[in-house]
Amino acid sequence: MLAAAALGWRAIRLQRRLERSERDRRRAADELNRRLSELFSLQELSYILSGSLQLDRIVEQVVRYAMRFLEAKGALVALAADGEGEGGEDADRRRLKVTAAEGTLGPLRGGSIGADDPGLIARSVTGERVELVHSTDTEPTPLVAGIQVASAAAVPLRAHGVLVGTLVIADPRDGVFAPEDVRLLSTVATHAAIVIANARFFEMVHHAKEQWETAFDALSEGIAVVDTQGSIRRANRSLAAMLDSPIPSVIGLDLGTALLGQSPALVDLLAAARRGERAQPLVLRSAPLGRALRVNAARIPSPEQEASVVVLVEDVTDQQQMEAQLIQSEKLAAVGQLVSGVAHELNNPLTSIAGLSEFLLEQKELASKDRGHLRVIHEQAERASRIVRNLLTFARKGPAEQARVDLNDVIQRTLTLMAHDLKLKDITVEKVLPTTIPEVVGDRHALQQVVLNLLNNAAQAVADNTPGQRRLICINTSFDDRVRMRVSDSGPGISDAVVPQLFTPFFTTKEPGQGTGLGLSITYSIVEAHGGRITVECPPEGGAAFLVDLPPAPPTPPPTRDAAGREPHAPPAAPLAKRTILLVDDDPAVRRLVKALFGREGHTVEVARSAQHALDLARTRTYDLILADARAMTRDHLFVEQLVELHPGLKQRILVATGDVRASTDEALAHLGLRYVRKPFNLRDLLDEAAQVWAAVALS
Ligand code: ADP
Repeated sequence: MLAAAALGWRAIRLQRRLERSERDRRRAADELNRRLSELFSLQELSYILSGSLQLDRIVEQVVRYAMRFLEAKGALVALAADGEGEGGEDADRRRLKVTAAEGTLGPLRGGSIGADDPGLIARSVTGERVELVHSTDTEPTPLVAGIQVASAAAVPLRAHGVLVGTLVIADPRDGVFAPEDVRLLSTVATHAAIVIANARFFEMVHHAKEQWETAFDALSEGIAVVDTQGSIRRANRSLAAMLDSPIPSVIGLDLGTALLGQSPALVDLLAAARRGERAQPLVLRSAPLGRALRVNAARIPSPEQEASVVVLVEDVTDQQQMEAQLIQSEKLAAVGQLVSGVAHELNNPLTSIAGLSEFLLEQKELASKDRGHLRVIHEQAERASRIVRNLLTFARKGPAEQARVDLNDVIQRTLTLMAHDLKLKDITVEKVLPTTIPEVVGDRHALQQVVLNLLNNAAQAVADNTPGQRRLICINTSFDDRVRMRVSDSGPGISDAVVPQLFTPFFTTKEPGQGTGLGLSITYSIVEAHGGRITVECPPEGGAAFLVDLPPAPPTPPPTRDAAGREPHAPPAAPLAKRTILLVDDDPAVRRLVKALFGREGHTVEVARSAQHALDLARTRTYDLILADARAMTRDHLFVEQLVELHPGLKQRILVATGDVRASTDEALAHLGLRYVRKPFNLRDLLDEAAQVWAAVALS
């Protein structure tokens, strides 16, 4: 009986033990299943993370999987500033940004947490390990200021010893974090930190690459990377634009050929750069592009023997032109100063030689031999006067007058002036002068000189053509943003060797007596003084072409000053046939000429001994004309200025003889509104001007 009972007990104990071990086995099997499923999930996460370099996607996945592993109610990843911040304060750098958040922590997404925040998130980044918190009724633990959860774990994310952020899990299954959960969290965090750090690094490199490429394309210089064969491997937009092709079409081209046609100098430069030498940049004229280029090259550091070279190409055409113009202007200014002094001294002697010889030629009783001699004297004096006048125009800085000028009209008049000469030489002129050309502002006489010089040169050029060749001059005007004039001819053209010297004063290829070499330099000075430019072309059809461009006059005409300076209260001029003239000039030869000229016409010429004497005479007597040298001075004032100030009514009767080259004198005369005649003048000029003074007085 006892034995049976004992047997029964053993059976029961065995039964219980069996039951217990069955429970243990089942628990172990469950645990194993759970761990296996975690392992698979971890593997899955690791697979997803390693397949992406997008930071946003990576942190979203980390949050989602962490929540899933711990069956938690919420999770987030807050990232630290990446240290690439644009020079922000330290405190800013230590801020955390909630980059991904799910579940109950979802509302925190996008928020930023300061380093001094009292909550778990900010605190976790200062530690090394997982930090766990459980709120109690008496001591609630916030995640961030103002937000609490029942229990949470935060694990700092560190890669290569650098903090990248923190992973936070709130309210896991059953409200507690088992030791296996903590281990799992650490594993996820370690893996995530490395992937996040890599993604950040990738973003940084990508951003830097983008910045570099933007800068590469934004540069106005052309840049190319060329391989050892000299072929373009990379090119920026400017280089492609220089070659007039899109970037893809430029890749693979031989740089030297594309830029310069054949250029041994460039090949040498590239070879030197490849060897690591710093060669001087090349400045070359590119025939295919028709531009001047400065090319520089440097080796791209590389451990390989065969290195690529980066080539910098600058278009220096405009810069070269500006430099050449500057040199030209300076040269002209220096020569101008020199010649103006000489020319001025020649003014009076030439005026009297030309004038008196002309005067004598009109005497009837001259022997024919003497008349011949005298004619030579007169012609040569006139020729010398023309040269002096040219020199003075050349030396004069600004345009003397500032009036609105119709360039087409100037051209028409100049052609009329030259018509006889052109016909004699059998020259055809073709002109295209559209009526839509706006006016320009400047000095009509100076602009006429420009047209005259260019037409004269063209006429001289075609006059040398052989009988079979056409003698043709084309002149046309057009307007885009500038008023343009083109004078071309069918002459022999201009050789390359001559072109650089064309505008240099006294440069001429003509026989002595045929040219002074001043025409084009004067033209250049005048055009420049009008804010314009003159360039020369050798057109493919032959001959030479000169192009002038000038700024157009403003659309509304400026108020015009009364050129004759008429005053309403001036006393009316006496309608006398015989005039009384007051002459103010200290040169005896000029005085003799003027007296002889006007005396012959029956007028009376009174000569003032000095400017002061002239002022006294003008006060006491009435003169029909006061002919005064522009430089005549009373102590420290210009005589004409004082005369106008003291006797404004006489303004109309004043004629100023000026040989001055100073722009200030021109301005003073223009300001006073006085009529003037330029020295050296000839007798007709002087009589014409005097007649105009009298006509103006009679009209007023
Ligand atoms: P000049 O005519 O007195 O020689 P310029 O300054 O006007 O002085 O001209 C300088 C030189 O430029 C001339 O000697 C000539 O060689 C050249 N030149 C100017 N215009 C032409 C042209 N239309 N055709 C050919 N050569 C020209």
